[in-house]
Amino acid sequence: MILGPADVKGDVSRSADVVIIGSGAGGGPIARELAGEGHKVVVLEEGGYFTREDFNLNPADSYMKMYRDAGQTITLGVPFILLPLGRTVGGTTTINSGTALRMLRPILKKWHLTHGLTDITEEELNLIYGHLEEFLFVKRADPEVAGKVATTFLAGAEKLGLSSGWLPRNAKECEGFGSCAFGCPSGSKQSVDVSFIPDAVKSGAEIYTRCRADAIRVKDGRAVGVSGHFVDPATGRPDGRNIEVDAAVTVLAAGAIYSPYFLLKQGLANSSGQVGRNLQIHPATQTVALFDEPLGPPKGIPQSSYVDEFKGEGIMLEGGTVPPEIHSLALPFAGKSNASLMTSYPNMGIFGGMVSDSDSWGRVVDLHRPGYRPGMLYMLRGRDVGKAKAATVLMAEIWFAAGAKKVFTPFAGHYELSGKRDLNRLERSRVRATDLFGMSAYHPLGTCRMGGDPEWSVVKHTCETWDLEDLYICDGSVIPSSPGVNPQLTIMAMAMRCAGFIDDRLAAAS
Ligand SMILES: Cc1cc2nc3c(=O)[nH]c(=O)nc-3n(C[C@H](O)[C@H](O)[C@H](O)COP(=O)(O)OP(=O)(O)OC[C@H]3O[C@@H](n4cnc5c(N)ncnc54)[C@H](O)[C@@H]3O)c2cc1C
Repeated sequence: MILGPADVKGDVSRSADVVIIGSGAGGGPIARELAGEGHKVVVLEEGGYFTREDFNLNPADSYMKMYRDAGQTITLGVPFILLPLGRTVGGTTTINSGTALRMLRPILKKWHLTHGLTDITEEELNLIYGHLEEFLFVKRADPEVAGKVATTFLAGAEKLGLSSGWLPRNAKECEGFGSCAFGCPSGSKQSVDVSFIPDAVKSGAEIYTRCRADAIRVKDGRAVGVSGHFVDPATGRPDGRNIEVDAAVTVLAAGAIYSPYFLLKQGLANSSGQVGRNLQIHPATQTVALFDEPLGPPKGIPQSSYVDEFKGEGIMLEGGTVPPEIHSLALPFAGKSNASLMTSYPNMGIFGGMVSDSDSWGRVVDLHRPGYRPGMLYMLRGRDVGKAKAATVLMAEIWFAAGAKKVFTPFAGHYELSGKRDLNRLERSRVRATDLFGMSAYHPLGTCRMGGDPEWSVVKHTCETWDLEDLYICDGSVIPSSPGVNPQLTIMAMAMRCAGFIDDRLAAAS
């Protein structure tokens, strides 16, 4: 059952085997697996429940309804970085781009060597990835549907002899509405709201929406459930009704920003001092290219193609076509210049360059502000600034090879490139983090990291916290270091593992 505030009378009190906070890439698979094993599962999700009818190709509407703080969540630091987060049944997967990639092999090796996670074997992970790919209908984007922006960019990459191709996506018969980030209007994208959650509900899970967990209840050093409250959909404020769930196992899956914040607010599970630290976000730059002929954005698959020639160096290029109202924000100009350039929107293409952050510094903190709002601190530093520049230069090279007459970049002093000479100037220049305009990031990770040493990590390889028995954390926060690619499949894989350990734990207790 998916229950909204209108379906609930007065306060709610439930007893369950498992209570899960959050229904995204971490929480959703755990709910499905454990409900499927016959356990009584209750999920608390702060966001609302939306279906195809709500996904109306209107970005502003979607930002207001399905994104936290209407999509305006920003890291504090240099530079400011937009870090949008979903707040809806399905979590951020409901509004993500559908890229479904396996983690790079050397990263798993790093997890073994640096984080002591030798229990996560390559064989096991590949089995889980395979199962997920089948369940989520993962296949390469169809070039016939992808759209001209993607085919043009790939043609440029091919001319330069760069490793490139079509991205694997969890989309079944995608029709190319160009609107993944605002909810898939055809229901083709297999986000958690249309894949794991319906199965969990069929197996008896109860999903309470507009229901914010406030605290994990603790007794004798064990987590024993959750208390929370319902939220008025119109105002976002408490509507006066509360919920209490007693449970044998509690799972925190509120995402890499909100899970650590939740723990910090309550002072829980932080004997290591690592809660909220090690924030990685995969900062991204973008380039906009202007052509003589129309490319027809945003029709097609927004994120369908990639160039991974330099993935070993932490640079991954992925397409990211967006509708005009969002596209205009990617241009490094305001006012009349922006408006005049936007008249050429049909002739423009956009592409993104994602950096695996290694030298930057990030942390989620409790600023003790009223409401439910953490501080997200992030400083782009060291080699990561160079990687952002290298990604931008590479994209510009590709656009010019594909026939672009201009390329717009986010680097101060290099906003408009008209050809090879401008590109060489950018390549040779010494750039700083302060030179970057309008960066964004989509993959917060690492803030309750998993590891083999309780002094350096918050959870074990099973996702159970070192400090509190029966409290598991499973979402982007446990991923100990950047997976080098988009993380949803890896978060889901960790969730599948975690569900197995919880199932064993419940079986042992019965
Ligand atoms: C625009 C965009 C595009 C993206 N594209 C891709 C992509 O193509 N491929 C990919 O792999 N990744 C992509 N991502 C990232 C990916 O979607 C996330 O990494 C993933 O969903 C994170 O999973 P999670 O479980 O950590 O958190 P989420 O999926 O964000 O789920 C957390 C949930 O917890 C809820 N919650 C928080 N606090 C509480 C509380 N106190 N009580 C109750 N509920 C609470 C939130 O409302 C939210 O629904 C994209 C992200 C964005 C923003």
